[in-house]
Amino acid sequence: MRVFRKTGLASMLAIALVLITPWSMAEEMKIGIGRTIITPQSPVWMAGYASRTEPGAGKVHDLWAKAMAMEDAQGTIAVIITTDLIGLTAGITDGVSKRIEEAHGIPRGNLMYNASHTHSGPVVRDNALFHMYGLDKENTDRAIAYTQKLNEWLFQTIDTAIKDLQPGTLSWAIGEASFGKNRRQFNPNGGVSNGFNPIGPVDHDVPTLLAKDAKGGIKGILFGYACHCTTVGFQEYSGDYAGYAQIHVENAYPGATALFAAGCGADQNPLPRRKLELAEKYGAELGHAVEAVVDNAMTPVTGPIETNYKTIQLELTKAPTLEEVEKTLTHSNKYEVRRAKKLQQLYKDNGKLSETLPYPIQVWKLGETVQMTALAGEVVVDYSRLIKYHYPAEKQFVLGYSNDCLAYIPSLRVLQEGGYEGGGAMLYYGIHGPFKHSVQNDIMNTIKELAGPPTTP
Ligand SMILES: [Zn+2]
Repeated sequence: MRVFRKTGLASMLAIALVLITPWSMAEEMKIGIGRTIITPQSPVWMAGYASRTEPGAGKVHDLWAKAMAMEDAQGTIAVIITTDLIGLTAGITDGVSKRIEEAHGIPRGNLMYNASHTHSGPVVRDNALFHMYGLDKENTDRAIAYTQKLNEWLFQTIDTAIKDLQPGTLSWAIGEASFGKNRRQFNPNGGVSNGFNPIGPVDHDVPTLLAKDAKGGIKGILFGYACHCTTVGFQEYSGDYAGYAQIHVENAYPGATALFAAGCGADQNPLPRRKLELAEKYGAELGHAVEAVVDNAMTPVTGPIETNYKTIQLELTKAPTLEEVEKTLTHSNKYEVRRAKKLQQLYKDNGKLSETLPYPIQVWKLGETVQMTALAGEVVVDYSRLIKYHYPAEKQFVLGYSNDCLAYIPSLRVLQEGGYEGGGAMLYYGIHGPFKHSVQNDIMNTIKELAGPPTTP
């Protein structure tokens, strides 16, 4: 476990200040905001649905990268970055973090990146799903050019938030919205398909962090929700319901920046869907949930900010041989062929297929009030519920789609049940096989290592 905290003279001065200043001053933190439009300026292929046949054109509304920087009395700075994108890669987040560390001395673990997982945003180069789209050279080059710009936009957004740090306050509460539905429908003859499961687990929490400036003006509102951003699948760029929710909140609190963080919604869909009016409706429902939180009593958040970040190796089932991979190159399913080509290339590059996937896990604590757990990939809802079982539920802000988007991350239950989230989606991620049954324990044990002993074992 790595705990990044500055100690020494600064913290001794801070303790001295706490002792001689009124209690309300002791709660003061610094808050900074950055925001950048990241809507493609020229046509880029759209991410999420493999069935699209042309790049995106036009927009419903802009896509954004937004950052909220927090600094405690000891001088520890942590920045959360949200994006209206399908998913960020470890290459992108680590690369941008390296530049931030060089510019500001802030370590990797103090930067938390989240993607809303909108299916109406551009393809991001080197996302594990990249091979799925089967892009020609022109569209590949466009995605590469977009991703280069994105790296710069992310750096600027974070840099702006850090330079904007000013005294303010943070507060916390959890709201509720119910449009996210469990989508794992069990078929009468066995198997699981993408539909609606009225008794499947859901997570309807709307964790909300409110940042005010020293005069009490609302500066930033970070909120989360655990549901796929798949209401629509048109050819125009949009943030889907999460984009509408951010617009709703920013209209409700003029001058504030609204940041959306996707939770563990890999097996959750907004239902019904496929109409733009529904994305707007769900955005308004989520926005109203945030308003209900912000307009009522919230718990003050104090420091210290504690940040922990660790990458573990998740184990996959045994890899196929090169001969087995090459047999699949003539498969009738084009996605099987695309995966086989990717695996064949990996054999050429590395001489073997890796049977593990690197998996970053991040846990932050904001004083005694909030515990933020950021998990990579498309994480099923069971993880959020497990974290809220083991730790006080009223303190938990659980994020999926964070820091990297390498695969679907099933729980043991989902892995054993099978279906898309249980292993079927590995085809589209270009990965040879499902995870081993150890996946859930490996992740939960690391969360416990980073967060400390659970209150419910
Ligand atoms: Zn997804």
